[in-house]
Amino acid sequence: MLDTNFFHRWMTAAAAEVSREADHLTDLDSAIGDADHGSNMRRGFAAVTSVLDNEVPQTPGAVLMLAGRQLISTVGGASGPLYGTLLRRTGKALGDAPAVTPEQLAQALGVGVAAVAQLGGAQAGDKTMLDALLPAAEALGTSFAAAREAAEAGALATVPMQARKGRASYLGERSIGHQDPGATSSALLIAALADTAAADGDGA
Ligand code: ADP
Ligand code: MG
Repeated sequence: MLDTNFFHRWMTAAAAEVSREADHLTDLDSAIGDADHGSNMRRGFAAVTSVLDNEVPQTPGAVLMLAGRQLISTVGGASGPLYGTLLRRTGKALGDAPAVTPEQLAQALGVGVAAVAQLGGAQAGDKTMLDALLPAAEALGTSFAAAREAAEAGALATVPMQARKGRASYLGERSIGHQDPGATSSALLIAALADTAAADGDGA
């Protein structure tokens, strides 16, 4: 079972990962966007870890809903509301259980990813975070390790795509040949999840 502490550790691991990769995310965003994705994500997840330490939510769902709220209020730019919606809606779908199964998390993440697609009006192949999140949510039904691999493969698969949503879409064909920054940060969040599970001996 995945308890409240597991979700707190996932968010802490995500913050560390995003901070370590912030320059890379900003480099990717400088190629096809406005060079702020790394700083957006670092600022957002630093705020998430500090609010989780201060408010100490009591269920897995409450951890993710609080984290999502914090991302929405601290991250300007497209990714704040999108990631905020992902975490809030995933958290809401988990309900108020004190611990959840990996299968319940996989199902809830599917709900959160669908909410991102609805909010941003994007679908698979549009060269956005969804290209990592959609396959990751599906693979999470198999294992945490499979979800990590699916997210990384999904992020890599954005390279030859032409962006149809977000700032990168303004570039038209010139967006081809670059990896999407949001798909890349999504793969980091899923990698942090897999690492957290592996630390519990639940990686496979
Ligand atoms: P901004 O584009 O406002 O500067 P960021 O740089 O923080 O915001 O985030 C950019 C990322 O957000 C993109 O790489 C893409 O993955 C994601 N994104 C942008 N628009 C959408 C959308 N409509 N649906 C899903 N993801 C999107
Ligand atoms: Mg940007």
